[in-house]
Amino acid sequence: MRKHIVAGNWKMNKTQTETVELINELKQQDLDANVGVYISPAFVNLSKAVALTADGNIQVAAQNMHQSPNGAFTGEIAVNMLQDIGVNHVILGHSERRAYFGETDELLREKVQVALDVDMEVIFCFGEELNERKEGTHFDVVKKQLTTALFALDVSAWRNIVLAYEPVWAIGTGETASPEQAQEMHAYIRSLIEYHYGVKCADDVSILYGGSVKPANAAEIFAQPDVDGGLIGGASLNATDFAAIVNGFAS
Ligand code: PEP
Repeated sequence: MRKHIVAGNWKMNKTQTETVELINELKQQDLDANVGVYISPAFVNLSKAVALTADGNIQVAAQNMHQSPNGAFTGEIAVNMLQDIGVNHVILGHSERRAYFGETDELLREKVQVALDVDMEVIFCFGEELNERKEGTHFDVVKKQLTTALFALDVSAWRNIVLAYEPVWAIGTGETASPEQAQEMHAYIRSLIEYHYGVKCADDVSILYGGSVKPANAAEIFAQPDVDGGLIGGASLNATDFAAIVNGFAS
């Protein structure tokens, strides 16, 4: 059975003091216990976040990791460093990593495999750019991203994969995909998984939508049958907004 998940990607925001404040504010919110709640602070604040969330239901995810186990990669973070401080979830393939740090689906395939090999859960992000949506190639783009990065994996690997469809034109722009556009793409993604891995695997994978989700639009997006939650950027930096989004599923 797939889970409802709402994950907050804090990106390069919040000092350690602010991280502590925001987590404490979040812990005071009444969060739907049937939703998996994730937060993803900056690397330097992960240890603190793990310690502060140890007594509750909030999971902590890293925003990235390197594909090598260790070595001469100045400025990078390896998977065992994350696990050693209690981080067992990682966001990979965010559009900002792709756009500003040159991450390709070939590279992401390596990162995903390295994470899965040690039982990390991967939140894998992908989605088309605005020009691709306008040209009508968005289904092909998404299919290619998933095929390159994920579809060589064994079916058993999928128990540790969460997908996050994030149309790049909707990230941080205030422009949201309509609930119908999100549903159409999520159903397509699920059909691809079914084709490669069978109906059970497709049914069990949580597919999140990301792109300008706010308290005002979360409920209608989450009401779509193939949308299992959201990856939230800007609105995850405010505890009451994030809580309202977490609580956006119909009960
Ligand atoms: C994101 O960065 O993954 C994201 C969805 O950002 P925002 O919610 O701010 O559009």
